[in-house]
Amino acid sequence: MAAKQQVLNALTLTSLLFAFLLQPCRTCAEELTWDQNGYVLYCPCMGRFGNQADHFLGSLAFAKMLNRTLAVPPWIVYRHHTPPYTNVHVPYREFFRLEALSAFHRVVSLGDFMEKLAPDHWPPRQRRAYCFETAAQRSVDKKSCPMKDGNPFGPFWDHVGVDFDASVLFSGLSFSGHHQLQWMKRFPPSEHPVLAMPGAPAQFPVTEEHAGLQRYVVWSDKMVEEGEGHIAALLTRPYVGIHLRIGIDWQNACKMLQSGDAGPHFMASPQCVGYSRQTALPLTAAMCLPDLPEILRAVGLWAKRTAARSVFIATDSESHSREIEKSLGGKVKVVRLEPDSAQTDLYILGRADHFIGNCVSSFSAFVKRERDVGRLPSSFFGMDRPGRSNPKEEL
Ligand code: GDP
Ligand code: MN
Repeated sequence: MAAKQQVLNALTLTSLLFAFLLQPCRTCAEELTWDQNGYVLYCPCMGRFGNQADHFLGSLAFAKMLNRTLAVPPWIVYRHHTPPYTNVHVPYREFFRLEALSAFHRVVSLGDFMEKLAPDHWPPRQRRAYCFETAAQRSVDKKSCPMKDGNPFGPFWDHVGVDFDASVLFSGLSFSGHHQLQWMKRFPPSEHPVLAMPGAPAQFPVTEEHAGLQRYVVWSDKMVEEGEGHIAALLTRPYVGIHLRIGIDWQNACKMLQSGDAGPHFMASPQCVGYSRQTALPLTAAMCLPDLPEILRAVGLWAKRTAARSVFIATDSESHSREIEKSLGGKVKVVRLEPDSAQTDLYILGRADHFIGNCVSSFSAFVKRERDVGRLPSSFFGMDRPGRSNPKEEL
């Protein structure tokens, strides 16, 4: 009797174990099944990280609007100054949790899509590119989407392992919600399962409506560990984090403002002047390219207001750390990461007790959105209270 019971127990255990092993694992790539609602693929081919992040949020919204799974592309990192000068394609999940996106919409990494789904469902010779007629005008036959023309386009699709066999052109459509039905009618997933596009199906900068999707962009465990390690080792709270976007490319970009015909909406500036063109506040020179007195003024103000014990500087070039340290009376520790990395800088800025960003920079905008989600305070150089003008500093 006892022996029989033991055998039964063993059987139950074994079947339980099997049931556990056979559990469908939703994040395991092996378990991927084809989505009959179709897919959206795109190259994050415009700009560096900040631009790509803006475009990512819009693309996520676009995929959801069409009820298609988004194939999340890798980040394109440019190595203009370090050998071998070729672009690096960094998987989304190196920096952020892919699973966190699923709370908003269905996603698969582009890598998994190519490895697990494309061989059966999107095989070579059935790979069509989708683009605006205007984009195809640039091609030799005026009928082909410029999917692989030049850098970063060619290297991106080569990295993904895709050649395109045909092009499908469209016009009279935009990526906004107004055209949802037109997209659905024009491209039913039964006939157009994979919409692969040369660029992000999104606006730059991200629209006000989609900025909140930043909530689903959650740092990976590895990034949290690394970022928190730096904060613990280098900084004492409270700390003010500042983003200095003052390098030569930025000095040139900001010159466009001086001519006066740029208007208040210039690159990422809607984040501080407001998204509505009718009610946008003026965009001042200091908001685009703060000079040293403005940098010292803003840092001094917020260091005082937050009783800061340290200041973290992220910069595209110079840090002005000596001047900042001196202007704070030598009582506040001033730190910058060396060697720096864009994502680690972003992480540390995101966790600061106060953040001072650059109005026009999409790199700053990434931090601002993340902090808005967590209700952490931010200001900008040239604008201490975002959304309200500082009359004295207008051009
Ligand atoms: P934007 O040009 O400021 O709108 O932002 P982008 O991200 O598109 O391009 C700026 C690029 O310059 C970033 O992606 C970084 O590679 C680099 N960069 C700018 N500011 C910083 C910074 O504070 N720290 C680091 N590490 N890199 C920066
Ligand atoms: Mn840029």
